Amino acid sequence: MSSERQVNAFTVDVEDYFHVAALSSAISRDSWATREYRVEANTERLLALLAERGIHGTFFVLGWVAEKSPALVKRIAQGGHEIACHGFSHQLIYRQSPAEFREETTRAKAHLESILGQPVLGYRAASFSVTPKSLWALDVLIDLGFRYDSSIFPIRHDLYGLPGAKPEPNVLTAPSGRTLVEFPMSAARFFGVQVPVCGGGYFRILPYWLTRVGLRQINEQRGRPFSFYLHPWEVDPEQPRIRVGAFSRFRHYTNLGRTESRLRRVLSEFSFTSMRDVLRLRGLLSA
Ligand SMILES: [Zn+2]
Repeated sequence: MSSERQVNAFTVDVEDYFHVAALSSAISRDSWATREYRVEANTERLLALLAERGIHGTFFVLGWVAEKSPALVKRIAQGGHEIACHGFSHQLIYRQSPAEFREETTRAKAHLESILGQPVLGYRAASFSVTPKSLWALDVLIDLGFRYDSSIFPIRHDLYGLPGAKPEPNVLTAPSGRTLVEFPMSAARFFGVQVPVCGGGYFRILPYWLTRVGLRQINEQRGRPFSFYLHPWEVDPEQPRIRVGAFSRFRHYTNLGRTESRLRRVLSEFSFTSMRDVLRLRGLLSA
């Protein structure tokens, strides 16, 4: 199947630069409310880029942002995009108790639904933190009425990853035996090594040609859709610089000035729609 025919999920995790796990050692949660707030303007830039190409995506909105910016949530939805849930506080699930996770995810979902007047189907964890240590979270998501999850990265990584997880959209069995649709994050395979090519830091740091080869491999050789993701702060080279260690600095700040032009390329070279619609096309979600 050609990359023209394979329709992929375009997703945005709507959070600000000060919510990011790689910078959390240098930013206390108490300081969030007084930081320069840039997520509204940066999300507008992404909305404009998508509108240029008539592409609708899925925006996983952090509850903290949704409470501060309900008008932004409405603007995204009015642009024809799907609104989904990125939790509330951006804490890693495996560092939360099940009770904490349930409480704050309930709050985030209910708030989005009160803004939209309709149910929110999809969930993505902060830093893809559904791992072998936090599979219990899938049962909480089912309890709360989510229809799909997109938090599993079938790779090894220092913060996340579920090695051996299925690489394509699938029906996942939670520890209780109940099921939930999963749209995992995508990796390509080069010389036997799994390389995440589906957005975020990898998209900024790897050369664009490698991203393109990897995404084509997923679409054409493996015949499956990928899930692409980006954050509004990744198109914002002017964001305040936070003093962190060299590795976190590399991960967060590399090539911020190039993301927007690369994004235009990826949007023109592959087909995209919302995650909900890709799952519907594949018969995994009912209309
Ligand atoms: Zn996030």
